Amino acid sequence: MEYPITQDAGLEARDDRLVTDSARTDRPTPDVDVVVVGAGIAGLYLAYRLSRAGHRLRVFEAGDDLGGTWYWNRYPGARVDVPSIDYMYSFDPNWQRDWQWSEKYATQPEILRYLNHIADKHDLRRHITFSTRVRQAGWDDGASLWRVRTDGGDDVSARFVVMATGCLSMPKQAEVDGLESFTGEVYFTSRWPHDPVDFTGKRVAVIGTGSSGVQSIPVIAEEAREVVVFQRTPTFSIPARNGQVSPERLALFAANEADYRSAARMSPGGIPMERSITPTFSVSEAERQQRYERAWGIGELFEAINVYADVLSNPAANHEFAEFFRNKIRAIVDDPQTASDLCPTDYPVATKRPCLDTNYYATYNLPHVRLVNVRKHPIRQITETGIDTAHEAFTFDAIVFATGFDAVTGAITAVDITGRDDAALKDKWADGPQTYLGLTTAGFPNLFLITGPGSPSVLSNMAVSIEQHVDWVLDCLGHLRAHGFAAIEPTATAEAGWTQHVNDCADITLFPAANSWYMGANVPGKPRVFLPYPAGVDFYRATCDEVVARDYLGFKLSGPEGSMCNDGLVRRLQPDVEMILIQMAAMNLPTLDSMPVDEARAFYAQMSTTRPPGPDVGEIVDGVLPGATGDLAYRLYRPPTPGPHAIVVFFHGGGWVVGDAVSDDPLCRDLCVRSDAIVISADYRHAPEHRFPAAVDDAMAAVRWVADNAEALGGMPGRLAVCGWSAGGNLAAVVSRLTRDAGGPHIVGQVLLTPPTDGDLTRASYVENADGYGLTTALAQWCYDHYIDPADRRDPRFAPLCAGDLSGLPPAIVVTAEFDPLRDEGKAYAAALDAASVPVEHVRARGHTHQSLTMVDVALSGAPVRARIANALRGFFLPTRTPETAA
Ligand code: FAD
Ligand code: NAP
Repeated sequence: MEYPITQDAGLEARDDRLVTDSARTDRPTPDVDVVVVGAGIAGLYLAYRLSRAGHRLRVFEAGDDLGGTWYWNRYPGARVDVPSIDYMYSFDPNWQRDWQWSEKYATQPEILRYLNHIADKHDLRRHITFSTRVRQAGWDDGASLWRVRTDGGDDVSARFVVMATGCLSMPKQAEVDGLESFTGEVYFTSRWPHDPVDFTGKRVAVIGTGSSGVQSIPVIAEEAREVVVFQRTPTFSIPARNGQVSPERLALFAANEADYRSAARMSPGGIPMERSITPTFSVSEAERQQRYERAWGIGELFEAINVYADVLSNPAANHEFAEFFRNKIRAIVDDPQTASDLCPTDYPVATKRPCLDTNYYATYNLPHVRLVNVRKHPIRQITETGIDTAHEAFTFDAIVFATGFDAVTGAITAVDITGRDDAALKDKWADGPQTYLGLTTAGFPNLFLITGPGSPSVLSNMAVSIEQHVDWVLDCLGHLRAHGFAAIEPTATAEAGWTQHVNDCADITLFPAANSWYMGANVPGKPRVFLPYPAGVDFYRATCDEVVARDYLGFKLSGPEGSMCNDGLVRRLQPDVEMILIQMAAMNLPTLDSMPVDEARAFYAQMSTTRPPGPDVGEIVDGVLPGATGDLAYRLYRPPTPGPHAIVVFFHGGGWVVGDAVSDDPLCRDLCVRSDAIVISADYRHAPEHRFPAAVDDAMAAVRWVADNAEALGGMPGRLAVCGWSAGGNLAAVVSRLTRDAGGPHIVGQVLLTPPTDGDLTRASYVENADGYGLTTALAQWCYDHYIDPADRRDPRFAPLCAGDLSGLPPAIVVTAEFDPLRDEGKAYAAALDAASVPVEHVRARGHTHQSLTMVDVALSGAPVRARIANALRGFFLPTRTPETAA
């Protein structure tokens, strides 16, 4: 059953083995094992790996020659925007013997020469059929193979199809009326002629100011008599500072190339670089400006984006960095109006691909170069002689379209691909692509996508991402053969989970705020979906490896002798929560339950000193209020809006043992600002010194005192809600019931954030989430044991779920977190409230842990949940819910 596969199996051995395979399985012998579509960097590497691994293959390439991007995009000024020694294959360790990069950022001709050199060196051309476009690929389920048709009349059957069609290979249409009437020359940067184009003495229009426009405009301006640039959206660009390959990088190479490549593979972007973990506003303004200047001076895109950890997630941080860029533009460009038009203002920096340029902004200082802002002066039409805007008629000898691509999905859906039951991929993706790992898609067995949607692709150094994908595919083919499987396909569950995960990753960034091609926004009618995977090459690679290590988790493998399906989700935590857990695990901190109580308290307090502070509120007042047996500290957070305000009494988390009135400071600030209510975080006595029911008595005393003093505190009498997290959530629930029974104070609503409601450790969530998600079952047990005797644990002042009658309680919002040992008792309490006809909103925080929802500005994915809490609070405070209107 096992085939002796070696990566470098000889061709003859290879053919014998495949004949045996087909004969043994009685299946039709496909013409080839693998059809590869595209002969760019990906197609060439596939040809190399597949042929070396003994697979019979054909590569079809629409172009007349190889190179993909670097074959088609021959416009003046075309270069890489990641350093050449990073943007190359790593499979050829002796490359320096026969290749040398002449510049830090190589030009298109040099890269194309490199790719031809690789193809010749490894004899790859013989696999490629040029000038042939694949039009159709249909899965034949009975024969378990693909039937591939080309515009050259080929009709080829193959066990596998690999789409190496490129993320940026399907040019956009012109989208301007009248182009056919223009009598001058028309060029698309993405389809530049092979013969030299001479603009000397000509009047040239360039439409588009993305990377292609930014690179070509200064070079065209060197020749042309007049250049008019039609800009719809200005771009952020930094000077490339091209030149020799940097000596530092060469030294790194010389020291150990294997280490260097390995660092690239395990980096966020595919270039060796430490992921920044410093938040922007954790350092001084002067230090930040220095850091920005350094990034501007280095001339490397990924370095620039990595200045601070939160550039792509914190609007204020992004705004400051964007302003730095805008100041640079203003300083370079002489004409203030042109400078202003060149300054991007309507999207966060780096949410559209930033550019690397040589003299881009300075080009606008040349007397024969002019910028037309088409947002102010829309292009009406192209005429016989030029371009008419709403306000002016321009005459041109040539028009250059640098208008971009139907990116990431365009070249894939341009092929008529049908899978099981003749389902068309185009239809499946009509509302946005769905893939598993960006590599495969359910219903389309044995179809692989290289750098497909849902993979890091265009957010990374593509050379590294392409190699990783191709290597993964080759390993997968080897695995199938070795285990007698003929087909592989992701499950619907795995695919839905991955699509969700990609969206989760995008949603905690600012990417969705831009109308970018990453979002499909540049193509009219294209669904708005974030296309690449934004969490980084390192996390992505680890995920792909984990899928394999977990026996192809999320895939169904089938063959003549049976099938196996290892269904499941590879990433279930919210991405930021997962990163936090990874970082915490790496710190190997002691657990609270391993410490004496005093130490645990000090440690807990110490941990909260390093977190971001949370949003600014209008005012903070610290005070004391009378508890059940003595004074208790409180902190009042007042909104910045004019009062009086509704009031929320908040009880902190900490298992009744640790924490205090200020230990949930960022959460309280956040609640205050979002709900526009005063939040009063009231302390209560802690166990084990003061065991149950001391905390309950204090919580009741705090609520009474706040209700009695509402007006003096700046609040609106009668508009009082309670809220708590963890043990505090328990107290909020208990107090809601006790005040009902006592006939007051009137509570208009209760917010219970991951509360314990009966401490029943036999619930499934205590087993499923026992360890690895922050709060452990052991720690929960430690807290319960400190707080309350086992004999008292059905007392409703500890276990609100055990209270006989829940009717008439204040409306509630109960938040449970998927990866929380306490999840199931929170869930049970929400259900019990509902059964008692108490209005209740149960929010199940997918992918969250017990603590993560409180991590303001750290676990950004918690923000929508806190927004729902605030929304619920606002609802509680509506006049219809207050006692006077109820009466
Ligand atoms: P491509 O190079 O796009 O090759 C795909 C090939 O598939 C094309 O030749 C196409 O003709 C062929 N094809 C498509 N459909 C069919 C079909 N149906 N039948 C037959 N053939 C088909 N990335 C970086 O990481 N760094 C950079 O600096 C960088 N610079 C870039 C500059 C430009 C101008 C552009 C457009 C892109 C740039 N990119 C860059 C992204 C670049 O596309 C990738 O780095 C890489 O070249 C992609 O290689 P590929 O083989 O996946 O796809
Ligand atoms: P692009 O980034 O999509 O830029 C296209 C430009 O054309 C944008 O300014 C766009 O404006 C404008 N445009 C599009 N349709 C228009 C219309 N109908 N009317 C007016 N303006 C219109 O495309 P690109 O410059 O070809 O670059 C695509 C990607 O390829 C890059 O982001 C990069 O990943 C890669 N690339 C890299 C390099 C490099 O430096 N190595 C060079 C070129 C390309 P809007 O923004 O308003 O849509």
